[in-house]
Parts: sequence; structure tokens; C-alpha cells
Amino acid sequence: MSSRPCPLCRRQNRRCNGDCVFGEYFIKRSSDFENAYQIFGLNNMLKIMSAAEPHQREAAANSILDEGKIMRINPSSGCLGHELNIRAQELSYLRVQEVLNQVLEFCTQHLSLVNPNQQVDKTSSPKKDSSS
Ligand SMILES: [Zn+2]
Repeated sequence: MSSRPCPLCRRQNRRCNGDCVFGEYFIKRSSDFENAYQIFGLNNMLKIMSAAEPHQREAAANSILDEGKIMRINPSSGCLGHELNIRAQELSYLRVQEVLNQVLEFCTQHLSLVNPNQQVDKTSSPKKDSSS
């Protein structure tokens, strides 16, 4: 048992003797806990944790902590803005992949024009020629 109280007990000015119900889910992420505490407040955090079934409590705690962290990083748009940024990045990567596939197709066609007898395996990565 740790000598330090869990973040929940610390915020309630309680002595933490290790038998608090939700403390184990927050003790490893105390800085994220402070962000979540500032946003949700202790009572709402406890309500969310109480509404979760025991097997859902770790996921509920992680959700609370992650939302608190994201809101600290981007307080104006929060989790929705974070998700929109991720989707925009995904679209950008898909466009890059599309262009790279076109370049690969072009190079493959060009190579087959230069050397029509050579088969190009598009599924494998380029290998070094050990004979040269
Ligand atoms: Zn505790």
C-alpha cells in the first residue's frame, strides 16, 4: 500500500487506507486527475464512476482522465475538436498514400517499358541487389 493518498481521497481530505472504491483507477494518473477534477468536479466524477458497472470502471476512469487531458490541451473545442483533428490527419495520410500509389504505378509502368522482361513485384519492398 502506498503512503500517499489516492487523488480522490486527497481531494476529499480523507485518509486513504487503500479501501476506497475508485482510488485505484486514478492513482497512476494524478496529473490527469487534476485536469479532470477542474473540468468535471469531484461529485460528477464520483457519479460517473458509481454509474459504471465494476467491469466498466477502469474504462470509465480512463475516459474521464482522457477527456480532462484533452480539455486542458484544447479547451475551446475539447474532445470533438480532437477527434476532428484526427480525422483530418487521417484524410491527409490517405491522400498521401493515394499519391504514393500513383507514383508507384507510374514507376512500375516506366520500368516495364525500359525492361519489358522484368517482372515487378508490387507487394514486396525493394531489396538490395547483393551481386553488385
Ligand atoms: Zn483513496
